[in-house]
Amino acid sequence: MERFDVIIVGAGPAGIFSAYELVKAKKKLKILILEKGRDIYKRKCPKHTNGGKCVHCKPCSITTGWAGAGAFSDGKLSLSHEVGGTLPEYLGIEETIDLIKYTDDIYLKFGADSNVHGETETRAMKDIRTKAINANLKLVHCPVRHLGTEKAQELYKALYNYVVEEGVEVKFNSPVNDLIIEDNEIKGVRTNGTIYSGDKVIVAVGREGSDWLQQQCEKESIETEVGIVDIGVRVECRNEIMQEINDNFYEAKLIHYTRTFDDKVRTFCSNPGGFVSSEYYEGDLAVVNGHSYKDLKSQNTNFALLVSQKFTEPFNAPIQFGKHVARMANMLTRNQILVQRFGDLVRGRRTTKNRLYRNNIIPTLKDAVPGDLSLVLPHRILMDIIEMIEALDKVSPGIASDETLLYGVEVKFYSNITKVGKDFQSSNVKNLYMAGDGAGITRGLMQASVNGVVIAREILKNIV
Ligand SMILES: Cc1cc2nc3c(=O)[nH]c(=O)nc-3n(C[C@H](O)[C@H](O)[C@H](O)COP(=O)(O)OP(=O)(O)OC[C@H]3O[C@@H](n4cnc5c(N)ncnc54)[C@H](O)[C@@H]3O)c2cc1C
Repeated sequence: MERFDVIIVGAGPAGIFSAYELVKAKKKLKILILEKGRDIYKRKCPKHTNGGKCVHCKPCSITTGWAGAGAFSDGKLSLSHEVGGTLPEYLGIEETIDLIKYTDDIYLKFGADSNVHGETETRAMKDIRTKAINANLKLVHCPVRHLGTEKAQELYKALYNYVVEEGVEVKFNSPVNDLIIEDNEIKGVRTNGTIYSGDKVIVAVGREGSDWLQQQCEKESIETEVGIVDIGVRVECRNEIMQEINDNFYEAKLIHYTRTFDDKVRTFCSNPGGFVSSEYYEGDLAVVNGHSYKDLKSQNTNFALLVSQKFTEPFNAPIQFGKHVARMANMLTRNQILVQRFGDLVRGRRTTKNRLYRNNIIPTLKDAVPGDLSLVLPHRILMDIIEMIEALDKVSPGIASDETLLYGVEVKFYSNITKVGKDFQSSNVKNLYMAGDGAGITRGLMQASVNGVVIAREILKNIV
């Protein structure tokens, strides 16, 4: 049985940055990365060459493989500690800010654009904040470094070449099936029938691997907390409607506590000039997302509106809840994304092809099926979304117009928060470290990457 000092499960940003920080220390550690998807040179989504139709690859090239969900992401690095995860809860605000700076410098070293959007707050930004306050919206200021999807891939390729040259072994098409734990200590992992022994194991499996991680936690009694699930829609409107915000912020994060249910609704992942996209979980569950390219631009802006659902006893299966809602939408559309005009939703009627094409806006997701979100989303979530759009209309007039498109369902699975300490080591399994989105700790590229760096440093502390 082959033995490694450190085994990293999952080659997303969290796993990659763990490997980077470990090899940078030049301690000649034996490091193995096991990744269930393909290598970055073989990651191709057939959708781009067959008229936008998904052919349900297994595993999905958009969410698995080297760079994980980061490779085909929009590559927006959020430079605020308030965005993209809960690291400040573990590390404190000051340390998180320092680590973001450190990690951002690594991104720059590997080719990220030096330009940062929204670094200083201008008069125009302050005016937008005033409008937000009037509409009971909180405006979170978050400078963003935009890599763009193509550049993000180049950058992660460069990181791949670096860690491999430094001796890290990477095995693709290697889904880890089991964590091997004895007497509350990790001993190794099993993949495709092969056992690898590891002194330390970092689990960085992303949202794609969160179900698997949950099963492992149940099977091995690894301590967890009930997490949240974010459910909502992707909004698409003409660039003109969002222009003031797009020009001044690139991405404005707005949070609203709704009138009827006092639920938290937030804007997320805004893509000026971007494209709405579908992604598939477990091969067949279509959920909506959005991205933008550095050079190719559409006439539309898209962003997500997400309602955070935190469940209490006795319910403890938020991922299943989110998937169930997404499946309802898939049922109506034969596994495509559903799209509805805001005006149709408010009037309680479905959107038809005819209604969809009478607008100024041309949908960027070509295979979306016009339908009725009220048959899919729970009443509470629907009301939250409608009230949020009405509030947003006071900041970006026109967003609550009939033609605004709502694509469903967007779901962010963050649940199964694994219980860890400040060092991200499992609270009850020694030498098992939890990182990134799959552990319920982060929700974005930057914090996932930072999480990887911190874990590597913790591991290095114990190596002389
Ligand atoms: C379309 C899209 C656009 C996005 N845009 C942005 C953006 O602009 N800005 C931003 O900050 N964030 C964005 N995100 C989110 C961002 O990509 C994630 O937050 C980030 O990639 C999380 O990093 P991670 O390493 O925790 O997990 P992931 O990137 O998901 O990587 C986890 C890896 O683990 C692998 N894996 C899973 N299970 C196993 C297993 N059992 N064995 C072996 N390997 C396994 C997966 O194949 C995957 O490669 C986007 C996500 C998507 C899907």
